[in-house]
Amino acid sequence: MPDRTDASPDRRPTAAVVGGGPAGLIAAEVLADAGWSVTVHDHMASVGRKLLLAGRGGLNITHSEPLDHLLDRYGPARPRLEAAVRAWDAAALRAWCAGLGEPTFVGSSGRVFPSSFRATPLLRAWLARLAASGVTVATRHRFVGFGPVERSIVLDTPDGRITSEVDAVVLALGGASWPRVGSDGGWVDALVGAGVAVAPMRPANCGLLVPWRDEFVGRHEGAPVKDVELSVDGVAVRGDVVVTAAGIEGGPVYALAASVRDHIESEGSCTPTFDLRPGRPVAQLAERIASARPGDSTSTVLRRALGLSPVASALVRELGGRHLPTDPSALAALVKALPCTVVATMPIARAISSAGGIRLDEVDESFMLRRLPGVFVAGEMIDWEAPTGGYLLQASFSTGVAAARGAIAWQRATVGAETDERAGRDG
Ligand SMILES: Cc1cc2nc3c(=O)[nH]c(=O)nc-3n(C[C@H](O)[C@H](O)[C@H](O)COP(=O)(O)OP(=O)(O)OC[C@H]3O[C@@H](n4cnc5c(N)ncnc54)[C@H](O)[C@@H]3O)c2cc1C
Repeated sequence: MPDRTDASPDRRPTAAVVGGGPAGLIAAEVLADAGWSVTVHDHMASVGRKLLLAGRGGLNITHSEPLDHLLDRYGPARPRLEAAVRAWDAAALRAWCAGLGEPTFVGSSGRVFPSSFRATPLLRAWLARLAASGVTVATRHRFVGFGPVERSIVLDTPDGRITSEVDAVVLALGGASWPRVGSDGGWVDALVGAGVAVAPMRPANCGLLVPWRDEFVGRHEGAPVKDVELSVDGVAVRGDVVVTAAGIEGGPVYALAASVRDHIESEGSCTPTFDLRPGRPVAQLAERIASARPGDSTSTVLRRALGLSPVASALVRELGGRHLPTDPSALAALVKALPCTVVATMPIARAISSAGGIRLDEVDESFMLRRLPGVFVAGEMIDWEAPTGGYLLQASFSTGVAAARGAIAWQRATVGAETDERAGRDG
């Protein structure tokens, strides 16, 4: 593993990239293309495991909406991510995929996918290209902290504990969701120990826990409640919601999970509402209920008069209270705003992503840690969050590129200048 203690005059700058997810691997690629000698360290037996997991349900790599809208998805973190995302935007990401033999297409929702829909071919081609550029991938290398001198890191490896001294370090250790694919948030203590402020890791884009009765979940677990609108704080998201053993999952749930999580943290619970017939006014539904056959049960009315599916109709019974209203207007109003009390979010280990991480004010505009010169950070380990829709991968890639470019510029301005100065003195 080449490091900066190599005294040869023509030695290339060296980088240790820690974390072989999308953010780390793209940083490695940018550094290698600039002529650096790069080693990617990852504690798992192979790299890119979360990317592969993301590809299982269709790899939504970015979004095709106008850049200004896309940037809004990063909420309060937008000002800190904007330059990086503009510099390596969705068009750049799509061109990069095409360069790896995976042209992308835009799905009906505007989401962008690689042509194979999966991550496997993309990762395979990418790792081959990185190897051809001389990038070394060192697996089963766990980052445990910083060494005694600047820009040195300590790693536990199969051969014991080692210290690597390099010209620049890029940390891209991911968030804390799905620890079994590698991102376990175990890096937090090392960063905090080095004086870097880290916001607590919290689940994002996660399912919500709803205390179902056994009978309901026994009959409807796994059933999708199709084309509903879920609302919190006046924000409504339409799509399919899936009933799970523990609660609810699906696009609208993930989109609202951050608001629900924040309410639960401050108030103990949160009660989003379902509109089971979006687009139909209450009065129209009430009219249909009123014209139902006398003597029909409420379930039959909900199904026949309103066209609710069995699971949607059961949801009204489950969440609407013991005695459902018989008055058509009141029943219609319930169908349009069915309260669903959520007691907790799914645990972080089952969330699609995590919020929290290295606080944005610890990071300068080139993604270098202010307290640790020469150490750059990228990806989900930084404190930003975004909904599903390709925004997570877009920002992971963009910040990976930005961190690598930051390292190159910093090395030229500092380490490179010192070396030139020394060479001038010695000469
Ligand atoms: C089920 C699922 C589906 C998803 N689908 C999508 C999607 O379709 N679109 C989208 O935009 N996003 C999706 N995501 C999110 C996306 O995969 C992540 O946001 C993205 O992978 C983050 O990239 P990263 O490089 O920052 O971190 P990661 O991909 O998490 O990579 C971090 C790497 O660091 C390594 N590491 C961690 N700690 C250490 C240590 N101490 N020492 C050494 N190595 C370490 C890990 O092994 C890992 O390889 C999905 C996530 C999940 C879980």
